[in-house]
Amino acid sequence: MITPVYAIALGSNRPGRHGRPEAEIAAALAALGGLVAVSPVLRTSPLGPSKRRFANAVALVASDETPPALLARLKAIERDFGRRRGRRWDARVMDLDIILWSQGAWGERGLTVPHAAFRTRDFVLRPLLSVAPGWRDPVSGLTVRHLAARLARR
Ligand code: ATP
Ligand code: MG
Ligand code: MG
Repeated sequence: MITPVYAIALGSNRPGRHGRPEAEIAAALAALGGLVAVSPVLRTSPLGPSKRRFANAVALVASDETPPALLARLKAIERDFGRRRGRRWDARVMDLDIILWSQGAWGERGLTVPHAAFRTRDFVLRPLLSVAPGWRDPVSGLTVRHLAARLARR
């Protein structure tokens, strides 16, 4: 029996206790465990006067968890990373989204897999392309390579 695999998108747009967004991504990857592949970290320069940069990556993670069980664990990691003592409004240091699942689609209780917006997000498709170009989206029937090429043409 082969362990199922998830594609998880990581995003960070503010520093946390591990450091800059790139360091937060590295720490979140370690917290995830089960890593099969990790994309390069994509850095996006902020628009406007803000100094805040964005870091994004995609990891392939082997896991037997159901999608809701994995989401609960991802949210716990987000909470752990986002905790900022002395701040009234917590800004999120880490966003962990389930993009794809090797077992197919899931749509129950507010959780949608494949992720509803991933087909039009360059910051997801580009890193995903580097780790899983041939993965076929069960909803559109298109491969990641095809989805990325289609988005780039727009
Ligand atoms: P987006 O989902 O557009 O990237 P976001 O990641 O900023 O937005 P969150 O605040 O992280 O939004 O999550 C909002 C809700 O989305 C979560 O409570 C979660 O239950 C739900 N959700 C639905 N599908 C997914 C998915 N595939 N991965 C992660 N969260 C999901
Ligand atoms: Mg998100
Ligand atoms: Mg999210």
